[in-house]
Amino acid sequence: MGGKFDKEFIDKKGKRMDGRAPNELRPLKIEAGVLDEADGSSYLEWGNNKVYCGVFGPIECHPRHKQKPDRAIIQARYNMAPFSVDDRKRPGLDRRSTEIGLLISEALERVVMVEKYPKAAIRVDIQVVEAHAGTRCAALTAASVAVADAGIPMKDLVPSCATGKVDGKVVLDLNKEEDNFGEADLPLAVLPSTEEVVLMQMDGELTPEEFEEAFDMAIEGCKQVYEIQRDALKRKYGGK
Ligand code: UDP
Repeated sequence: MGGKFDKEFIDKKGKRMDGRAPNELRPLKIEAGVLDEADGSSYLEWGNNKVYCGVFGPIECHPRHKQKPDRAIIQARYNMAPFSVDDRKRPGLDRRSTEIGLLISEALERVVMVEKYPKAAIRVDIQVVEAHAGTRCAALTAASVAVADAGIPMKDLVPSCATGKVDGKVVLDLNKEEDNFGEADLPLAVLPSTEEVVLMQMDGELTPEEFEEAFDMAIEGCKQVYEIQRDALKRKYGGK
């Protein structure tokens, strides 16, 4: 964050390097029910990010000491494939992917009706096959669609997107260069119905005013992501 970068992120006309306006998302497509062997699944393309998610469960929770007598637990695993980034990621779990798995589990536990399934586990496996910044938001966005596709009752879907700061300006949905060399990155997940925040992290620095602007921009971004999530489910299941 904040490293050396010799180009301008925003040109004189106010456009970003990839032609977007400051408050514009990268193109986002979501499909529900793409994997035969999972109970629920989704595939998402967001800019150059590509993410698969498969859900299994509810099943009996193992190991048993992790069981909760009054509810299910969500076990989300986030993995970046070795070929998902330009300099080959070492295969397997690392601290970053463990942390992202936990964040996604906690965010989903806020919306899934876990109290309906005592002692159970709901497994959410996420494979990022191409990673170009914003993959935790992409993974969480894909995950709640896959949970819904599994027919597991939820209070709401969980849309997520990041905002941040480049060239001193607040922008929505950072691309790879903006994420790596920008001044701040604020991944958020906000439920549009209640504006409840179920994921928030921050890297870099924002003034209180910039934070407010970034937060409001993320709420608007999450509303757009939410419509695309709903469309994916409507295309598969019909309905309004
Ligand atoms: N990245 C990478 N190798 C890693 C981790 C991340 O090349 O081991 C890249 C990848 O493109 C990722 C980006 O850096 O999307 C930003 O990573 P960050 O940890 O900020 O998470 P993200 O923005 O993807 O949620």
